[in-house]
Formats: sequence, C-alpha cells, structure tokens
Amino acid sequence: MKTTTAKSLRVSKKEGVRKPILAFLKSLLTDAVFDAILIPMQVPAGDSYAWVLVKDPSLLDQANPLAPIMPVQGAKALKSLTRKGEGNLKIAAVMRPCEVRASVELAKLNQIHLESITLMSVDCPGVLPVADYFENPGESEKRFNAMLSENRWGNGSMKSVCQICEQFSILPSSDFHFGLMTGSESSVVLISSSPKGQRVLKDRSLDGSVSLSDWENGIESIRQERKKERTKRFREVQSMVEGFDGLLKTFARCIGCHNCQSACPICYCRHCYFGSEASKLDSDFILKKAEQRGGLSFPLDRRMFHVGRMSHMSLSCVACGLCSDACPVSIPVADVFSFVADQTQRTFDYKAGEKREEPLPIRQYRLEEIKGVEEWVKDAEGVES
Ligand code: SF4
Ligand code: SF4
Repeated sequence: MKTTTAKSLRVSKKEGVRKPILAFLKSLLTDAVFDAILIPMQVPAGDSYAWVLVKDPSLLDQANPLAPIMPVQGAKALKSLTRKGEGNLKIAAVMRPCEVRASVELAKLNQIHLESITLMSVDCPGVLPVADYFENPGESEKRFNAMLSENRWGNGSMKSVCQICEQFSILPSSDFHFGLMTGSESSVVLISSSPKGQRVLKDRSLDGSVSLSDWENGIESIRQERKKERTKRFREVQSMVEGFDGLLKTFARCIGCHNCQSACPICYCRHCYFGSEASKLDSDFILKKAEQRGGLSFPLDRRMFHVGRMSHMSLSCVACGLCSDACPVSIPVADVFSFVADQTQRTFDYKAGEKREEPLPIRQYRLEEIKGVEEWVKDAEGVES
C-alpha cells in the first residue's frame, strides 16, 4: 500500500463517524484548501440523495459522505462537472471507492478531467438497493445508521454487488482516504497517498500517532469474508447465464427501456448505436426474420443491446450496481455484468480504475500479445497449406 502520511480524527460513540468527517471537510473549505467540495446530500424531502457541489461551508452540515443509497454514481456528477475541461477551481470529490474507480476509468477515456480534482475515498460498507430504501426512507436511514454505529459490515440487506465487493477501501488511484475502524476503536484514519492528498493534511492539527495496523487488519478480515462469498455468488451467476440460452432467459423479461445504460457511469460512447437511425430496421427485413423463426418478439434489439453493452463495458465495469437499481423489472443486471467483467478483467490482468497509470487494455498491445497473434497467423497458415 502506498501510504505517505496518516493521521486520525477522534470519534465519539454518540456522534458516529459522519460528524467528524464533515467537520474536517468544513475546515478544508473554510481554510481555502479547496474552493468547493462535491459530496452527496439528502434532498429537501429527506427521501433521497443528490450530488451537490458545495461552496458554502455551512451547507456541509446536510451532507452525507456515507449515504445509505447511491441513486446517481459520483463519476457521473464529476463527468458533468469536468467534461469540458479541468476548470480553475480546486475541488475535492468525496466518493465511495467504486465511484473513484469509475472516475479514473472515465479519465482514461478523456471524459473526466482530474487535474484540479482531489479524489477522496471512504471505506464503504455498501449501499442499500434504492427500491428497498424508497419503500420507507426513514426506516432505511435508521437501519443503515445502526449498522454503521454497530460496525455490522457484511450486512445482507446491502446491494448484492456490495456484499461481494473486494475493492471497498483505499485504492492506489485515490488521493486521500477516510478509513473507518471496524472494531471497537473510535477513530477515523486519514490517509494521504499523493501530493494532492498531502496538501489536505498539511498544517492540520490532528493526531499523528495513529497506527494503521488495527484498521488494516479489520479491512483485511472483511475482504477475506467477501472473497469467499464472491466465489460462491459468481458460481451461481455463472450457472444462471451459462450459454447463450441462459443469457436469453435471464434477460427475457427486459422491456428495452435502456435505463441500465443511462444509469451506468461507464457507458462511454458519445453516440450510441442503439439510439441511432442505423439501429432501426425496415419492416420487410423484420417480416423476413419473423418468417425464418416462426415469430419475432419486441422490443427487437434486446439480445444485441445487452451483448453489445457487455462487450463495451466488461473491461471498465466497476460493479457499482447502478444498472440493477435502475431496472424496472428487477433483472439482476449488475450481477451478470460484474461477473462477466470479473472474467474479462482477469484475462487482461486489469482492475478497472484501480491504478491511474495503467492504460486501458483496449488502448494498448503488450509485446507477448503481438507474439500470440504471430503464432495464430502461423497456425492459420499451416492449416491452409
Ligand atoms: S455495468 Fe452496471 S455494475 Fe457495471 S459499471 Fe455499469 S452500472 Fe455499474
Ligand atoms: S433496465 Fe432492465 S428492462 Fe430496461 S433495458 Fe436494462 S435490463 Fe432491460
């Protein structure tokens, strides 16, 4: 782990972890370390969360760095903010690790500019499925808060992708990290891991005698639990989507709304084929297909839509689960996509968004891959001769 400096914030059992984190962020805004902070905030009705770019420090009292749901992926907010260039403001973005990873993937695709952004990650216990939360927001808040204060991580009511997420803590790609103690200890560890992160801790009067080992051990034991669960869950998903028929069955009730695509932070094409004129078929062609197969179901492009999206997404999917949250007919889209992504990313020895300096596999060739192609060509020639 690349750790340059670590300090800590004291946490009282009564107040929990959010208050000291927000007080710390407030001091950064007041002391002009940042010009603005991008952070989730409860909407005025108290029944959801939105990303807010906070300039006024007093507004941070209503922010929540550990919101119980993720209705919009943070990378999407960051993309709206920086799409046209880096801008002049120094901004901190306080995000869950999967949001940091999606932001880094989009930066590699030139859709986010990170030059003036300090990515601050928070240890993530997971988030609730939005549909469960919306059934009773008040109750859900209470449940989530109790889980946080009692350190009940690995809770079965979290989104299914969160229950098996191994990258829920510090990442080489974040500038700064808030580590939450998972045992009986009451503190938040502050870790800077880049020159931008160093700036955050500079001149702050904080406890510098922190030992990271308790926090690291707590995180590691959760990671091991999740690893076991992940292997088990992926076996189930594999049997569900095995072969083309399995995939078709899983997506059979799809209504073709494309909500999964709209919610996904990674879907990066500026012009989508599925919204284009080229994707529209003429009725004679459709009739011919119906004749060949005996019948044709609508909407027409479901199979191609999911397979096409999967082929685009699987190297960069960060398993955030937004696609499942967005599906009106409860298809476990994220379970399938994250399973396929796991296979693809393993093949390329790549973890989406984990390291900034690692190029996207679709944008580079490794020498051994070219050698592999040479061998295929020789084999093919041998077969032909
Ligand atoms: S495909 Fe689904 S799980 Fe993967 S990044 Fe997109 S929204 Fe998140
Ligand atoms: S959100 Fe669900 S119903 Fe809509 S296109 Fe995606 S999988 Fe199909």
